[in-house]
Amino acid sequence: AWGRVKNVCQQNGLLIMSVMAVVVGCLLGFFLRSKHLSEQEVKYFQFPGELLMRMLKMLILPLVVSSLMSGLAALDAKCSSRLGIMTISYYLWTTFVAVVVGIVMVIIIHPGGAAQKEDAEDSGKPIMKITSFFNDSSIPILKPRPTVSQDLMETTTRRVFIYGIQDDNGTDIQNFSLDLTPPPDVVFRTLPGTSDGMNVLGIVIFSATMGIMLGRMGPNGSALVNFCQSLNEAVLKIVAIVIWYFPFGIVFLVAGKILEMDDPSAMGKKLGFYAITVVMGLILHGLFILPSMYFFITKKSPIVYIRGILQALLISLATSSSSATLPITFKCLLENNHIDRRIIRFVLPVGATINMDGTALYEAVAAIFIAQVNNYELDFGQIITISITATAASIGAAGIPQAGLVTMVIVLTSVGLPTDDITLIIAVDWALDRFRTMVNVMGDALATGIMAHICRKDFIKEGEEIPLICETK
Ligand code: ASP
Repeated sequence: AWGRVKNVCQQNGLLIMSVMAVVVGCLLGFFLRSKHLSEQEVKYFQFPGELLMRMLKMLILPLVVSSLMSGLAALDAKCSSRLGIMTISYYLWTTFVAVVVGIVMVIIIHPGGAAQKEDAEDSGKPIMKITSFFNDSSIPILKPRPTVSQDLMETTTRRVFIYGIQDDNGTDIQNFSLDLTPPPDVVFRTLPGTSDGMNVLGIVIFSATMGIMLGRMGPNGSALVNFCQSLNEAVLKIVAIVIWYFPFGIVFLVAGKILEMDDPSAMGKKLGFYAITVVMGLILHGLFILPSMYFFITKKSPIVYIRGILQALLISLATSSSSATLPITFKCLLENNHIDRRIIRFVLPVGATINMDGTALYEAVAAIFIAQVNNYELDFGQIITISITATAASIGAAGIPQAGLVTMVIVLTSVGLPTDDITLIIAVDWALDRFRTMVNVMGDALATGIMAHICRKDFIKEGEEIPLICETK
């Protein structure tokens, strides 16, 4: 038995170290909280974690551009349109399922309402009086009030690339459509940033279009295609080195976040119930529904498949960013799950940009929770509106920390809920963000396996061997 344990440790050393890093990070974080470090000390302490984030961010852009350009150029027109249609339809479908799961959970658990009743009983006040989360009004909704985190919202809005918020230059839809077709200056201006302000969706569309055209150009396009292929290989080689820094970086990333967080005991009951609802929904969707879909379509074990992407899931937990996790997911799918490279190159970057099941689920729960704490009855039409806008908001959210919190403005405005109330859920958002990002990454990875299965015939050229799909080493 000892020999077997040794074997497992040798094969999964990095993974085991990463899991331990999360645990050590939590312990260290809570220990240091009691030491009341100064702001400056916390900043120094967070430095190794920040370094990890930067290393990952540095790789996103070359990976997305090179994957899509070389991936789509390698497919013939029939294959790429079939794969494109199937992938996008599947992504929309699973996002919609996630929203439905969220809505059902929040309606059954009723986190806003249940807690309200308790609070009212506790304080001996009549239930009806407590109509607002802040107990400052008997008018259920839309009462402007000073918010604790107006600043935070503003910085998050600036930090995050979003489509939902109306600005002086145009409406939501206008902004969204303009971002889909970025002019070259925008593409290149955002290139070196690769991070917070990056218009990833625009870049995906730009690269995909270029890839399709390069494919059509035949030999004339081969110089650029070869360039992209080399770039793609090089990024994966860098990932293979950077990966050894992960356990160390994760300790500081996790501990640094715990040092920053608000006092958990100050979290109200309502917020607690809300967090539980989101987490339960995410577990149901991420651990049961998505793997079942994988199983029914491919008839292969989702457990084996998920084991292959554990490293990516841990990184998403530590970074709260599906874009930053992208290089690792790519590596896991290629090397552990043996998915055809051509499929990964298309399905994964597109998924990391538009397919966010966890985010969609959370947006629906959060919007209905806000309605509940405001005692605002939603009718069926409004619930449908929430499901559609939550899907759209998740597509619009960038794969970076807490992007979903900001795109929630779209969902709230669509049914007339106060957008200020986003501040109600900010206290727990950093934690929920980690779990929903894991589900986002899981959704993309399982989708890649499913597409590899569905399209396997398209990708076998004469005389070529059938690529081995989803068998872990
Ligand atoms: N952090 C999430 C991601 O990167 C997006 C979000 O829901 O905030 O996938």
